[in-house]
Amino acid sequence: MSAMPDLVVWDVPLRTRFRGLTRRDGVLLRGDAGWGEFSPFWDYDDAAAVRWWRAAREAADEGWPAPVRTHVPVNVTVPAVDPEHAHRIVTASGGCRTAKVKVAEPGQPAGADEARLEAVRDALGPDGAIRVDANAAWDVDTAVRVLASLDRAAGGLEYAEQPVPGVEDLAALRRRTHVPLAADEAVRRSDDPLAVARRHAADVVVLKVQPLGGVRACLRLAEQLDLPVVVSSALESSVGLAAGLALAAALPELPHACGLATAALLAADLVEDPLLPRDGAIAVRRPEPTPALLAAATAPEDVAARWGGRLAAVRARA
Ligand SMILES: [Mg+2]
Repeated sequence: MSAMPDLVVWDVPLRTRFRGLTRRDGVLLRGDAGWGEFSPFWDYDDAAAVRWWRAAREAADEGWPAPVRTHVPVNVTVPAVDPEHAHRIVTASGGCRTAKVKVAEPGQPAGADEARLEAVRDALGPDGAIRVDANAAWDVDTAVRVLASLDRAAGGLEYAEQPVPGVEDLAALRRRTHVPLAADEAVRRSDDPLAVARRHAADVVVLKVQPLGGVRACLRLAEQLDLPVVVSSALESSVGLAAGLALAAALPELPHACGLATAALLAADLVEDPLLPRDGAIAVRRPEPTPALLAAATAPEDVAARWGGRLAAVRARA
């Protein structure tokens, strides 16, 4: 077996355009505790990427707290695709009983979100749960109106994730809609992540390991927030997803399906046995990257150079 380097810059295509991206790239680094992933999206600046770096170092140097469960129920993620495609994604999801549907994609015609939600409900059946994510696209008045329409189309929404930006708008919206609300950006990109709880702005919080600085940092935050947590990915490879799985496995309570079934969105992974759901859940484990897959995913020189610069900048701040 050939020796693997301790740091690899990787770059793989996505199966479907997601979050405006067609490829996903990042760094894997190896330490005494195993492999960690450092893959901040490029719209995070160096200061924000420091937390992603801490999460990668925690994985590589310390590992994670012990799990309290062996399986984590997960949602299938449905991008802003047409209804037939949405139906196929849910049907092929590995038995997921919860679907997270992207809505409010710029440039789509009126009614596209409703049509996608109807298709997802048809594929899931009446007892499945449907949540939507609008990535802070609406103002409060628009959200009140649109959520009522989406709730009808979906045959009931489990919750709406960050339909409006910021904590104050979430709090205002929460007084005007019966659809439960989840905070994502209001926690992840805030200097004051506890404001969501203080202002009673959400029914659920979405926590992501890398942007929030690691599994232990998220466990502390969850305890302080004292709200139901949904652990979601940052579209990592299975090496990075294992950290999210470790967080979901270590939380004292886990009432909702987590957003960790995103390995299927990558056209290639770095491990032979990707973290994919079976019967709607992912078994808690930590897969190792394999030399052949790492070699196949190794980034071209320009991408590697870009990450080299970013690593130097972030390490200087960490
Ligand atoms: Mg979100």
